[in-house]
Amino acid sequence: MKLLPRLSRTLSLSFEVFPPKTGVNFASVQSAALEIASLKPSFMSVTYGAGGHGSKFTFELCHEIEKMAHIPTLAHLTCTGQKKEFIMDSLRTLHHLGIDNIMALRGDIVQGEVPDGDFPHACDLIRFIRSSGFDFCIGAACYPEIHPESTDRKEDIRHLKEKVDAGCDFLTTQMFFDNALLFHFLYRIREAGIHVPVYPGIMPITSKTQIERALTLSHSFIPTRFKNLVDHFGSNPSAMKQAGIAYATDQIIDLYASGIENIHVYTMNKPDVAAAIMHNLSDILGTSV
Ligand SMILES: Cc1cc2nc3c(=O)[nH]c(=O)nc-3n(C[C@H](O)[C@H](O)[C@H](O)COP(=O)(O)OP(=O)(O)OC[C@H]3O[C@@H](n4cnc5c(N)ncnc54)[C@H](O)[C@@H]3O)c2cc1C
Repeated sequence: MKLLPRLSRTLSLSFEVFPPKTGVNFASVQSAALEIASLKPSFMSVTYGAGGHGSKFTFELCHEIEKMAHIPTLAHLTCTGQKKEFIMDSLRTLHHLGIDNIMALRGDIVQGEVPDGDFPHACDLIRFIRSSGFDFCIGAACYPEIHPESTDRKEDIRHLKEKVDAGCDFLTTQMFFDNALLFHFLYRIREAGIHVPVYPGIMPITSKTQIERALTLSHSFIPTRFKNLVDHFGSNPSAMKQAGIAYATDQIIDLYASGIENIHVYTMNKPDVAAAIMHNLSDILGTSV
């Protein structure tokens, strides 16, 4: 099931889950993913283990979601340190499993390591998928606050355009906590000739430890309003969870009211968080713009 034809001019949410590191936890992760899928997101994405580990579980989880819940999935695939043969095998497996959508990523480079692979950047992976003979819908990552390795915005957008020119169909953003950053980013990339759909990525922060982890990964800017919320509720887990879900809901409503219909939510294998967001938006979901 390809993603793009299903998207419409009503608010639609897609949800992200991550696979288990080992087979031991597969059943519990699958159960959480299927509970999230029962909320009927427009699609679900399944991340790929850092360093390229765990592809088996990413693909298996996508397959289970499609088979059991009939929701299209987006399988993440990273290429750093990988050889063409391995990526080709992955494409064959995805095709065999009936998964039509790939999030094509470079992946993080382990500090101090020089990757010895055939794909220095995500654009190389996208080109390879496009020339593989398989007809995948391809997504790629973008960074409203620029990728940490980029020296400036111009360079970051130039490389983003290379990915789009290589054949990606849509972009999903890194998490951000200030919608103004997304609006500025959209303006700049449209000006640079990037016209594919962009799905903003919203991360509901439900605990103080989660924000610390998220910031280490994303380097996102924290607006005062959000900082106050963490300072005020951070030591009360249930209050922090409620406030974090309310903040994410507020970001989604603002994005939708500003004309953005498709929003990706980093639900992090938490069905209760996904359900709470859907509940908060129940009268808005399905409203035409
Ligand atoms: C939506 C989203 C989902 C993600 N999912 C996962 C996941 O499932 N698993 C995982 O391990 N990681 C994931 N990541 C993290 C991602 O792998 C890292 O951010 C990684 O460091 C960069 O990946 P990329 O695909 O954006 O790389 P690239 O597009 O290759 O960019 C990486 C850096 O290289 C620069 N660059 C790009 N092309 C060139 C070029 N031709 N010449 C010189 N420089 C260039 C870019 O400007 C950037 O600074 C995700 C990130 C996002 C935003």
